[in-house]
Amino acid sequence: MDKVVSVSFGELTLKGLNRSYFENKLIKQVRDSIKEFTNTSVYKDQGKLFIYGDDTNINQIIDKVKKIFGIVLVSPCYRIEKEINEIIKYSVIVAKETIKNKNIKTFKVVCKRSDKRFPMNSMEIAKMVGHHILEEIDDIKVDVHKPDLFVYIDIRGRAYVYTQKIRTFGGLPVGTNGKGLLLLSGGIDSPVAGFMIAKRGVEISAVHYHSYPFTSERAEQKVKNLAKILTNYCGDIKFYSVNLLKIQKAINEKCPEDEMTLISRRFMMKIAQRIAEDNDIDALITGESLGQVASQTIKSLNVTNTAVDIPVFRPLIGMDKTEITDIANDIDTFETSILPYEDCCTVFLPKHPVTRPRLKDIERSEEALDAESLISDAIEKMNVININS
Ligand code: ATP
Ligand code: MG
Repeated sequence: MDKVVSVSFGELTLKGLNRSYFENKLIKQVRDSIKEFTNTSVYKDQGKLFIYGDDTNINQIIDKVKKIFGIVLVSPCYRIEKEINEIIKYSVIVAKETIKNKNIKTFKVVCKRSDKRFPMNSMEIAKMVGHHILEEIDDIKVDVHKPDLFVYIDIRGRAYVYTQKIRTFGGLPVGTNGKGLLLLSGGIDSPVAGFMIAKRGVEISAVHYHSYPFTSERAEQKVKNLAKILTNYCGDIKFYSVNLLKIQKAINEKCPEDEMTLISRRFMMKIAQRIAEDNDIDALITGESLGQVASQTIKSLNVTNTAVDIPVFRPLIGMDKTEITDIANDIDTFETSILPYEDCCTVFLPKHPVTRPRLKDIERSEEALDAESLISDAIEKMNVININS
């Protein structure tokens, strides 16, 4: 007997000719995600993917693999000889293990026989195994409609028995759907936005704006830590760090105070578009949510949006803070996001930011600035690092 993890792919089946390309990408990601564990192997058995592990690392393997987009289910399994007595023995063992301390009264055996050379058919196997479970476990009954426990038997090159199907995030393998540049602040929202777009197969890079020395190195480190957590899902992230201070000072000097946040935001978008163009990136991603703050009213968002002509994805646009926070908790970014470090936007926070800006007014205010040289100067001085998964 060996312990293995079975892995089921999601929407790939819909993708026809691209299927093997997607599948190979995914298998590579699975391999990469568990490279720190020794004594593991990834293999296919009649079309399904399995990871061999051992008692010491099987749970850690599951924890890593369940974060990979494109996978819908993972199951810890016993891999055994294709022999009916072994199948019976381990079906009873796995049923007993699952029942322990749980209120399980009914079960059903589900058998799938991909290897048609196996001498018994699925019905016969399920019946025989069911019979043994009834004999060896007290107070349990068969319920074929709505059982508390499923015992799965899968007969392929080898036989597998298991009871758990762990549902994962789904989505598409990262890298199969172009590239996006995430505007990553230190807040709760933008990491969640990056996660959601990566889930649709988009490879993520990140740009962060700071106002060093007004903002600290620790504040920037916090954002890098957030990016590092995201690499669990998105793979490696190229991280662009841009100092916005000179631009903020210029806006502060030459533009109306109540437009400060909005004009800074437009500069962030323009710089991001420039980085995207230089790096074959197809879209920007932000964590904006309608109405959350003054800079996220419809009118403010429109003014921000017209700063660029590249598509801007705002996956959180219709979500409440509580929904966003739930996802941040699920993906482990929340605790880092709420660490109380200063953000570049708070350095020159206007007392009464505009909530109903008019594009014409904003553009007129911006005429006082030499936008082009401010932008190219910021880009020239930016830092780029790779954050590896
Ligand atoms: P978040 O929680 O993501 O910081 P927020 O609710 O605080 O969002 P804002 O501060 O108005 O909202 O920012 C809106 C979006 O603009 C962010 O989600 C992020 O995509 C982008 N953004 C804001 N500040 C920065 C920054 N310093 N660096 C990079 N992107 C930023
Ligand atoms: Mg913020």
